[in-house]
Amino acid sequence: MNTQTAYADLVHHLQRCSDIAGTLRLLEWDQETYLPAGAMDSRARQIGALAEILHTHSTAPALLALVDELANRLDELDPEQAVDVRESKWQLDRERALDAALVRERAELRANARSVWIQARHDDDFALLAPHLEQLVAMERRVATAIDASRDPYEVLLESYEPGLRLAHLESVLGEVRAGLQPLVARICALVERHPYPASPLIGDFDAGAQRRFNEHAVAAIGFDFSRGRIDESAHPFSTTIGSDVRLTTRYDPRDLTYSLYSSLHEAGHGLYEQGLAADARGLPRGTACSLGVHESQSRLWENQIGRSHAYWEQLLPAARAAFPALAAASVDALVLAVNRMEPSLIRTESDETTYNLHIILRFELERALIGGDLRAADLSGAWREKMRELLGVTPADDRHGVLQDVHWAAGEFGYFPTYTLGNVYAAQLLEAAAREIGDIDELVRAGEFATLLGWLRAKVHRWGQTLRAAELIERATGEPASAQPLLRHLERKVELLARALPGA
Ligand code: ZN
Repeated sequence: MNTQTAYADLVHHLQRCSDIAGTLRLLEWDQETYLPAGAMDSRARQIGALAEILHTHSTAPALLALVDELANRLDELDPEQAVDVRESKWQLDRERALDAALVRERAELRANARSVWIQARHDDDFALLAPHLEQLVAMERRVATAIDASRDPYEVLLESYEPGLRLAHLESVLGEVRAGLQPLVARICALVERHPYPASPLIGDFDAGAQRRFNEHAVAAIGFDFSRGRIDESAHPFSTTIGSDVRLTTRYDPRDLTYSLYSSLHEAGHGLYEQGLAADARGLPRGTACSLGVHESQSRLWENQIGRSHAYWEQLLPAARAAFPALAAASVDALVLAVNRMEPSLIRTESDETTYNLHIILRFELERALIGGDLRAADLSGAWREKMRELLGVTPADDRHGVLQDVHWAAGEFGYFPTYTLGNVYAAQLLEAAAREIGDIDELVRAGEFATLLGWLRAKVHRWGQTLRAAELIERATGEPASAQPLLRHLERKVELLARALPGA
């Protein structure tokens, strides 16, 4: 077959897989949002049937042969075509390394452990989960060895979420974050001890319908395209891409405006990235997000770096006052303080922008020790408490508020957590670089002028898809390799803000 014909054939295969995957995501989105509870049974079967069809198509011998063939002829393809082949080959080789029996055993272990985790968390009984975690760790080690026995198994697992990431690089970045945060957290503790937080103006009476309209306004303002997207409600916020449109979800708490606003900004950041991927390469690696860390950089940039800034509330306050009588007398300063409360706490998902990273470092260090064989799952609960004390100075009274709080490990996801802090690191570095090129970001934000920043992100991050791996993407976009220093500078400014804003401080 001629090379261009073979490439056209590959595109056809990949786009068909992507169409099936999009349809599957639509069914899953519907299940989380609108599906009547009585129809869960048939939906589970529909999802299972479609997942099987997707598996058949994405592992079709004809597709595998095509990818192998084209991988030998990279020099006959143009650079964009070569990206699609290179990334397809990388992905397929990882999948092919696992035989069907191993894949089935892994899926069963995960499904089983997930339901045990629900029970263990409910009963606050870590011992119930520990043997399952031990099996999951052993399984992930087997998987890593099957993929590449020559490398540290943890690095191989990391690449499921962050392709191309080197463990040494991750360790150095997280090491910088860890060292840089210690004095900051000590400062936060000292401040908060002397000056307790005032009541938040964002806790009160906030009509759910008004919240819905307000969030749509906030999300449209930063550039989310509602002609190719929606926001609906679900128990846990998420975003998902159905071909050319992006679905976001949030949850409305009529007593608290903070949750729906910041989860919407977060999910909209993910959505802006998806909407900014190359439309003519949809379904191909060039038109697919680079990595989870880069994805998370986009959500956290809008949620934290922009959304929790003073400038952001200066432009949002008039709309907020118009939407909610409860905010009639609220000041920008009080609102900014309310969305930047910082304090060591037990639960990752409820923690602030600064201490959040220590929750991630704790998980990174523990899961590395598990995969490396230096820590047994049975000892995890004690190790968790010890590290909480070391990093955050607090210890959970029970495992429900400790090692049992997240589902990730019980779902077999080892190497996933670091992508959250990588996202924070990339976001801060991108924003510093954007400021050097497009000028004072606060000034633009204050004027409600978000399009310039979004345009910069589109040009430097979104449109590249998987053309570049994350390390190269960040280096090209910002002129330097990924580093924790911009994030630490950003968080230092936040702590300064806190010191100035706390009454009496
Ligand atoms: Zn996210």
